[in-house]
Amino acid sequence: MTMDDLAAKVRAGGRLDRAEALALYTGAPTPLLAGLADEVRVRKHPGNVVTYIIDRNVNYTNVCIARCNFCAFYRPVGSADGYVLGFEEIFRKIDETIALGGGQLLLQGGHNPDLPLAWYEDLFRAVKQRYPTFRLHALSPPEVIHLSRLSRLPVPEIIDRLVACGLDSIPGGGAEILVDRVRKLLNCYSKASADEWLDVMRHAHRAGLRTTATMMYGTVETVDERLEHLFRLRDLQDESCGAGSTPAGFTAFITWSYQPDHTELGGAEATGVDYLRTLAIARLVLDNFDNLQASWVTQGGKVGQLSLAFGANDMGSVMIEENVVRAAGASYCMDEIEIVRNIENAGFVAKRRNMHYEVQGDPIFRERSVPRMLELAVARVDGDSSRPPEIVRYAARSAAEKKARLEQSAD
Ligand code: SF4
Repeated sequence: MTMDDLAAKVRAGGRLDRAEALALYTGAPTPLLAGLADEVRVRKHPGNVVTYIIDRNVNYTNVCIARCNFCAFYRPVGSADGYVLGFEEIFRKIDETIALGGGQLLLQGGHNPDLPLAWYEDLFRAVKQRYPTFRLHALSPPEVIHLSRLSRLPVPEIIDRLVACGLDSIPGGGAEILVDRVRKLLNCYSKASADEWLDVMRHAHRAGLRTTATMMYGTVETVDERLEHLFRLRDLQDESCGAGSTPAGFTAFITWSYQPDHTELGGAEATGVDYLRTLAIARLVLDNFDNLQASWVTQGGKVGQLSLAFGANDMGSVMIEENVVRAAGASYCMDEIEIVRNIENAGFVAKRRNMHYEVQGDPIFRERSVPRMLELAVARVDGDSSRPPEIVRYAARSAAEKKARLEQSAD
């Protein structure tokens, strides 16, 4: 097929196969790719609205046994820089989120062997008891698998138990590239193979949960492996949505480039053009996904704004706090005023949404006064090595944690 044939197929609403997607991704001039992605966005989202959400990224622990080589965030078990947030600290973060007009935490963390399933169940119950309408978008598939291994319970049971305690939806973290060759090279195969990641999402969808899907590109994968990732997501979305009339499956797709600073893997960051082309091809391949987010947190506000011309219909989250990407060298910050300014200056109408992409209203700062946020918060201020009081209620598994408790009780 010529480039013109491929463009005509997309414009007619045809579904791309892998060879066609590869031809477009590698061969289409960037303006053509952008134009096609924009046409598909308009078809899916007639009108001029671009959405965003006010929520907070909270990383409840940085202690992790997975040790992915692209990750600058984790600390090994026993590290002096390791932390676990206490329930009261998390409640304070929720209070601050509500004050800024937010209604959800994106809660993710390391695979900490000293946090058993009961810790998560107690935390979720406590959050819902204090904040009944507050939403928990929590625990990416590898964290669910980690809990399944720790507790020796099957994944569907873990999901059911977490839902019973207040889990509302599952974020798509930990997908990286859903190709096992790549996962082995990134040392993230053992935390979750591609099939295992997809299986958690399959079970979540069957349990009636909505989830998101992500892709971190720009490490060791080939261009064709990026496409394999997208096609695997498209297949699962087909399966999860089936012929049902109720919304199901993934609500959105988010892609970002690998951030290399302070990582074991090292290397260089992909360019802004690579990001925009990757976003555009995702819009064309993922014809069964309604929403694509712009990743301003890795690309900055200006490329984030350009994303709206390359297939994105959503500016993602105000975020409030961020620890993972910052650890790898990127530290962009946009509060609601800044996100709305970027959306409106690009010619769109900005609307607040929830995780289900239901519009919640106009920008909150136009309804009431909210504090400006000129810097993203962090999980803990530097030097705070306090241990949450409730941690001793849960059996320690690691030698380091057992030793720390003995020393604490001897003090
Ligand atoms: S990416 Fe997640 S699972 Fe991998 S080392 Fe970092 S915190 Fe652990």
